[in-house]
Amino acid sequence: MASGIGNAAHGAVQCGLGWLVASANPFSFPGRLLKGNLHTHTKRSDGTLSPEETVAWFRDRGRYDFVVLTDHRVLAETDALCSEGFTVVPGVELHPGKNELGHAHHIVCVGVTGPAELPGLDSPQEVLTTVDEAGGVCFAAHPRWHGCTFRDLIALEGYAGVEVFNTTCSALNGKGDSTVIWDDLLARGRRVFGVAVDDAHLARMDYFGGWVMVRTDDASPDGIVAALKAGAFYSSCGPEIRSLEVTQSHLKLECSPVRSVHVVSRGPVGVSFMDPGGALMDGVDCTLGGMDTYLRVQVVDASGMSAWTNPFYLDELPPE
Ligand SMILES: [Zn+2]
Ligand SMILES: [Zn+2]
Repeated sequence: MASGIGNAAHGAVQCGLGWLVASANPFSFPGRLLKGNLHTHTKRSDGTLSPEETVAWFRDRGRYDFVVLTDHRVLAETDALCSEGFTVVPGVELHPGKNELGHAHHIVCVGVTGPAELPGLDSPQEVLTTVDEAGGVCFAAHPRWHGCTFRDLIALEGYAGVEVFNTTCSALNGKGDSTVIWDDLLARGRRVFGVAVDDAHLARMDYFGGWVMVRTDDASPDGIVAALKAGAFYSSCGPEIRSLEVTQSHLKLECSPVRSVHVVSRGPVGVSFMDPGGALMDGVDCTLGGMDTYLRVQVVDASGMSAWTNPFYLDELPPE
């Protein structure tokens, strides 16, 4: 059986403005998996601890290999915060314009530095274009929590993905899971990745709740940003995905013990695997058929925690 995604394009490719996000199998990339949090606040905005204290807090607990500092409207250099075995990536969360419910947009920008004083950026598209030109990568933050719909997001170009899970939003009002908005976009042809994040402020239980597993042989900030752009990652709130092979007609996935494996496609299309008696599984090896436009895999463990692969587009997958 073909391994990974065969000759399909790997990851995102530059296409005029922004990203044309393509199928990417993290296990087809070289290197090792680095676990990290893409969305973190410090005292520079509304976080609890200073940047130095925040980085030390995560580093000393040993559960992440990297964090991205994304204070509201504040850009900062982070190279001095990196240490052996722990990478700090610069970023920012920006709030340009309003969504259809009248709430400010929240856009997490990863891999950007600059002056603390930001130039005026009034529209979400302006932010996405500016960050793209600066070499960074943007994600639509917690869309469900602040009422940002697929209509808001389909009108924008140049973001690589959406937060499918945000730990802080889950703790604030239970609206941490935006997976449905991701599927709304995918069903309409918008090719975007999904990321799980903490949005840590270290003010409540807003840490170690959602993360990405990035596969790379370059643990520098630039290496992590490049791997994110390429889609060399999966997201999780608990389960581990250990290997993944996918074609149009076959799926083989190995993971930590889970209660169910869902192959999700467009609209009602898809298939789920679970033991009728509730026994845990460590993956699937199955024939696929009848998928529509895209497929993604979501596994759910005995605690109800998910891990998500990024989407695979049928027109990019080898037949077998
Ligand atoms: Zn936000
Ligand atoms: Zn935030």
